[in-house]
Formats: sequence, structure tokens, C-alpha cells
Amino acid sequence: MVVPTTFEPPRPWDEPCSPDWIRRLPKAEVHLHLEGCVPTDTIGAEDSRRSGVGFDPQDGTPIFRDLASFLAFLDHSCALITDGGQLEKIAYDIAVRAAANGVGHVDVIFNPVHWPAWRPDLEKFVGHLDRGFASGEADHGVTAGLCLSLTRTQSPGESVELVDWLLSARPDRVVALSVDGNESAAGRTGQRFAPLFERARGAGFHTCAHAGESSGSEGVRDAVDLLRVERVDHGIRAAEDPALVEQLAARAVPLDICPTSNVRLGVVTSLTTHPIERLRAAGVPVSVNTDDPLLFGVSVVDEYLSCSEAFSWDPVVLGEVARTSIESSFAEPERKRGLHAALALFLGESRAPGPRSESSGDDSC
Ligand SMILES: [Zn+2]
Repeated sequence: MVVPTTFEPPRPWDEPCSPDWIRRLPKAEVHLHLEGCVPTDTIGAEDSRRSGVGFDPQDGTPIFRDLASFLAFLDHSCALITDGGQLEKIAYDIAVRAAANGVGHVDVIFNPVHWPAWRPDLEKFVGHLDRGFASGEADHGVTAGLCLSLTRTQSPGESVELVDWLLSARPDRVVALSVDGNESAAGRTGQRFAPLFERARGAGFHTCAHAGESSGSEGVRDAVDLLRVERVDHGIRAAEDPALVEQLAARAVPLDICPTSNVRLGVVTSLTTHPIERLRAAGVPVSVNTDDPLLFGVSVVDEYLSCSEAFSWDPVVLGEVARTSIESSFAEPERKRGLHAALALFLGESRAPGPRSESSGDDSC
């Protein structure tokens, strides 16, 4: 079994759950938007004003009032990417950041609605991204797949057109159909999108859907029962419905959760009140992701570390979360096997947690 070159074995002196240990922990990232990987300095002061978004003077990240202001900002920033070289660099830099965080595979969601310069020629758009990801894989050993996303609020005609394109063009780099956007503004759209997901599935594409972010638990139900997705993006408001939580656990439906994003967009009030731990403890497979790393100023390691601290996750839990990230990814089967093997090797070689600390009273970190 080939262990990817991106992964370094744990060092004997690495404390389990420390930032270095988490950085070396082999994992995947499965909820990452291309739109959230556009450098924030792409957008100038004037465009920023027009989008109605200010910037944090401390770290330079945008400040969003809510999901609607966030989506409006994406329209402004992505519209400024008109050169193929910019797209290639954005894709390449995703691989660079992944490798720096011990991420061996990324599933990257892109939504054509935010990219007006490229909307008329999506094959060219995907071609530029493909070149960037291929260079990233060659240089950093990170594999990447793209998930074409529909928009909850777009017209039925537009979404049909996109799925028609996907099924006829079939670009190698695109592995899945997704849907995102403002769920609460769109209302329940499961019935409308279900036939499109059925078509994509029938043509061999993976499926995932944003749900249970701005929609309630009913959005998650629709994603699972009507769209029949393999994994749910966010899905955290499933926690409001105990019967649904039980169902997700019994059917092992993975939720790809982005804790910082949920706090920054006001879906939850704080990390400590985030339902990820309740969902995980109830047996729902969860992974931890960044959503939009450059816009929220977070990395995968940051997210694992924050959860580890907020919920006292020990090395076993962190290993489970990493395992879910790999298992729920849309990586090729052989790549998945390699990542699982790298994770098993890493966990096997990690030193056992030290004696119980007097302050915490357990093995958590
Ligand atoms: Zn998202």
C-alpha cells in the first residue's frame, strides 16, 4: 500500500491532539467552496462597498451580517476572476493549503452562478481548474474532485441546463452534483431538484447537498429522502429532530460540518453551543471542514483544534472524524484505501496518551 508523500509520520515527541499532531493526522476535506478560496485582496474597496461588506481591521477577513450578505459578496469577488491563470492559481493554492494541513484529498464545490465571466464556457472554466489541481497533485500529492453545484433559488430551466451540460460534457475532474445557496429564501425545493439528482446519479456522479444550515431539520430530511444524497453539507439543524438524528445514525449518513462558518454566519451563537458534538455522540458520522477558508480566515487544522478544545475530543475521536472525512469523500476507491491506510498507520504509531492530567481528570485534550 502506497502511503501518500504528503503525510509525515507522527514524531515520538508529538503530544496527541497538539497542533503538530493534528497537522500530521491524515484526512480529507469534503466541504470546501471554490468561491471561498478566492483571495480576499482580489476585491477592492469600491467593490467591497458595493457588496455591502466591511473588513475586519485585525485580520483583513470580510465581516458578514448573514448568509445573504455572504452570498452577495461571492458574486462580487468571483466576478473579478476573468483570467484562466487566476483560476489555475486558485486551484493550485487549494492543494498547497491542503498539504500544509495534512489533507490528502479535497472535494471542491463550485457554483457557476457566481462566475459570470465563465458561465458561457464551463468546459474552459473546469479546464483551467483541472490544470491547477493537476499541478497541485504532482507537486504536493493532494488529489481533488469538483462538485458542480446548483443554486436553491435558481429557475428550474437554469438548473436543468446545468445538469444537461454536466451529463454531456462529463469533464473528468467533475465527480459530483451538489446544490447550495439560500435554503430559507428558496423554501422546500426537494421535489423540484429530485429528478436532476436522479439523472446525475444514474449517469454515475456522486451527490451531496447543502441542507440544515438556513433551513431547519426538514431540509435535511428532504436532502436524504428526496435528493437521496450520499452526504449532507452542514446538516446541523438535524439536531432539532431526535427521530431524524436516529435515522441519520442508523443509516450512517455523513454530515460535513463547518463549525467556524456556522458561527460567522450566525447559524449558531458560539462554538461551544454547536450541535456537532451532540450529533457525533448520537452516532452520526461527522467530518470537520472549513467551507470558505480565505473568507473566514480558518484552516482545517484550526477547525480540528477548536473542536478538540471545545468538546474535549481525544485522539480516538479525532481519528474517527478524520476517518469519516476520508470515507465520505468522493476520492477514487484506490485513493481512499491509501488514505485509510495512511490514517491507520499514523494512529498506530502515535504514542499513547499520557497519564491522566490532574486538571482535566481524563485523557481528553
Ligand atoms: Zn458550504
